[in-house]
Amino acid sequence: MKKRLFAIMLCVALTSGCVYAESAVSTESTESTESNSDADSTESAVDIDSTVRTESVESTEGIEGDESAENAESTGSMQAEKEDGRETIGIISAMDTELKLLLENAQIDHVDHIGNRDYYVGELCGVPVVLLRLGIGKVNAASGTATLLDRYDVSEVVFTGVAGAVSDETEVLDIVVATDLLQHDYGVISNDGFVWTGAQLETDAVYLCDEELVEMAWESAVEVLGEDHVFTGTVVSGDQFVSSEAYVKKLQDDFDAMACEMEGAAVAIVCSEYGVPFVVIRSMSDKADGKAVKTYENFMDTAADHSSNIVMNMLQHMHDEGAETEGN
Ligand code: SAH
Repeated sequence: MKKRLFAIMLCVALTSGCVYAESAVSTESTESTESNSDADSTESAVDIDSTVRTESVESTEGIEGDESAENAESTGSMQAEKEDGRETIGIISAMDTELKLLLENAQIDHVDHIGNRDYYVGELCGVPVVLLRLGIGKVNAASGTATLLDRYDVSEVVFTGVAGAVSDETEVLDIVVATDLLQHDYGVISNDGFVWTGAQLETDAVYLCDEELVEMAWESAVEVLGEDHVFTGTVVSGDQFVSSEAYVKKLQDDFDAMACEMEGAAVAIVCSEYGVPFVVIRSMSDKADGKAVKTYENFMDTAADHSSNIVMNMLQHMHDEGAETEGN
């Protein structure tokens, strides 16, 4: 059984104030003493008022990180700020645990409550961002992403989160950067059982991530975790938590999938509708097999943080490149 330990990595970007740390990580996928009680994190931050409210961060609960509050100032604006002409990036996840590290490191200007979601408008690693937790599943993913793209001037979308490893190559805590996404559970129930069609009428079956963003995500993932742990390929989405060897085999055979999750394809469809380039970064929390529920509970926090660190690395590069261009 392979086990690798990575040295403590501390990235401090003095120019932008983006500070993120990665502690020693074990890639062994079988056991962990950590347990996670935050598995049902979708219920938080629900606001039954469906109108839009904008709050400064001083009055908003749930934002961690002192800097966020100190730097807070309500603008009342629905638009993400564009500072120095820099583009705003939409950073989205499904669950609180997947957004936690990013919120801790971000300087949040204000929070808009729209529907039952919070849209955190601010800056991360020197880059203007809107951070959003969608909730679990394709309906939540489509709804939140549509609002994000409709209300904010977002030039690119990066999804960060955890997933089940499908390919035999990928282990728990490896990274899969999606090149393309599809809905594995979309089709027809016939007398012969389920027949996959992928889509009907106006939508395509397969959605491609932006090549440049895929490359950037891959490079950042390699910087953070090492090349042995980073893969690219097809990510499949469905409204089921997959915990079945037989179904994993089916996802391998039918789609040559690298990973399975519950939101990516929906995000991809909405981004494509709006013509916004996107990439989906997934860190493996489990192997989608019979032991997946337990493995997921043990590894999802660590996996989520890995993905967040990759996003911050990407943003840092975007910031540095932007600064270089301005300097020339
Ligand atoms: N335990 C939670 C549900 C988590 S669903 C609850 O009870 O509320 C799992 C989340 O992680 C989804 O957002 C999905 O995108 C991702 N995920 C991780 N492993 C997965 C797997 N094996 N199958 C499907 N989605 C998975």
